[in-house]
Formats: sequence, C-alpha cells, structure tokens
Amino acid sequence: MKINVGDRKIELKENSLGWAKVLEIPIKIEVCEDSFLHIGATPSPLSEKKAPIFKIKGKPAIPASSFKGALRHQLELLFINNIEKFAEKFNIPDDKKDVLKPCIPSPNPTKAEQELLNLKMYRGKMEGKKYVGHCEIKVEEDKINVGDLGICPVCYFMGATGIMGFLRVGNFIMEGESDIINQTNIRIDRKTGTAAKGAKVEGEQVKPGSVFKGKIEVVLSTPILEMQGIKFGDARKISDVVIDKWLEYWEEKNKEQKAKILIEEILIPAIQNIRILGGQKSRGAGKVSVSILSE
Ligand SMILES: [Zn+2]
Repeated sequence: MKINVGDRKIELKENSLGWAKVLEIPIKIEVCEDSFLHIGATPSPLSEKKAPIFKIKGKPAIPASSFKGALRHQLELLFINNIEKFAEKFNIPDDKKDVLKPCIPSPNPTKAEQELLNLKMYRGKMEGKKYVGHCEIKVEEDKINVGDLGICPVCYFMGATGIMGFLRVGNFIMEGESDIINQTNIRIDRKTGTAAKGAKVEGEQVKPGSVFKGKIEVVLSTPILEMQGIKFGDARKISDVVIDKWLEYWEEKNKEQKAKILIEEILIPAIQNIRILGGQKSRGAGKVSVSILSE
C-alpha cells in the first residue's frame, strides 16, 4: 500500500503472519540534541549500576510498552482536538459525535486527564474517586453490551482488556555502537547555589543524536474477521452487535481506501506527534523526534 507522509510517498510492505495479514510501518526515533534518554530497566539486585537503562541483548532499547503509552496518549489528543473534522469525515450524525471521544484506560486518571474529563473531552465520568467509562465488552445473559458509544477509536487501534486492537508495536533497538553515558548528576540548591543535600543521582543515559529503529504493524485482517467480511477500517460486530460505533456511519465503501485514510490521517500524525519518551522528564530527558522511514 502506498501512503502519503507529508510530501513523501511511502510504500508499506504487506506481510502474512499466518494468523493475520499485516502492514509494516518502519519507524525511526531520534534523541534530540538538547536532551538525553532514560528508560529505566527493572532494577536487578545483582547489578552494581544505579538506574540502569532498558536493554535488549546489551543494546539500549525503547520497550514497546513505553512507545505504546506515548502513542495512545497522542491518539487521545488527536481525537479530542479534531472531533468536528472526524465527525464529518466518518459521516457521524450530530447527536452521535460522542462515539469519537476516547476513553481513559485506567480507573485512576491523572490530574490532566481529570481536567479534560471535566471538560467532557473524554467519555465516561468520575464516580467518587474512580473513573467509569473505559472500553469493555460485557456479556449479559448471552447478549453483548458495549454501551451507547461502543469501543472508542483509540482502543480500536490500541486494544483494551479483552478487545483486540489493530496495532502491534515492537521494541525499538539502538542503531550502531551503544553510546551510553554513565552520569552523576548533582542537583544544585537554588537558594544556596551549592549541591543540594542527597541530590546526587547516578544513572545511565542514552546520548543525544542516538537513533532507534523498529516497526509498528497494522493488522489488516485475520481469518476470523475475514469470515465476517471485516477488514481494518470497518466496524466490527460481535453476534450482530456493532462494537466500533464510530465507524458504523462511514460512507466510504472502498476497503483499501478506508485503511489508507485511517493510516494517513490518524495513525501517522499521532506517531509523528510523539515528542517525549521515558523517564527523568523533569531533568529535560526524553525529547525525541519520531519519523516514518521510507526504507
Ligand atoms: Zn477506549
């Protein structure tokens, strides 16, 4: 499939994994010049190093889970910021626009998420201290219940508990020689201008300019979906109940075109909007630029 990324045309490779047909999107992540990257590994009691970074076979890596979290967040923002545009694109009736609102995938939203929730940017609501409204499929006496809004567009891509998403994200491995700095950072007390007490932080970091490569796969179809005549871009059904209600009104019927639009206008922009990854953000870490490779 040929897709447009800015003014570039990129040919995406189709692959058969047996259980699914997928489209590969090759991705490059570069650590910005004014920053560094720290994605912590689970501390090992045997390691002498303090704050080691995540590695695969000795090479620094960005774990899929980190990237997924950042991508989910960017997809949420994309739908929040473009609800009118997408309502028009997907032919959603005026009184049904809420189907485009993302859910918060946790019962304990962050402060920022709660603010957006108060502004009705997300679906669902707070009941006491818990958020109610995340995507799920309930089976009640053999009947499928997905609520009035169905599965949200973000979970369509990323998946939710018990619901397959159409994206598969792998780990991103650092290119070239591992260039890690083992830095001791001393925080300066602003008042006294000397080293703050107990402020020595030791840890590994990936240098600015480092490049990581990996890929995202878009599941185009699976044998089960195929039996129902459903591909990526279509609304899915479970025993005749439409679960992806945000796609149910779309007048576009060409399946290839549908997949292309979701990739070009939703997935690619969300990927490119990722600007920060990993930890130690308060120290200026994690600034990245993410781009689509044209192999
Ligand atoms: Zn959701």
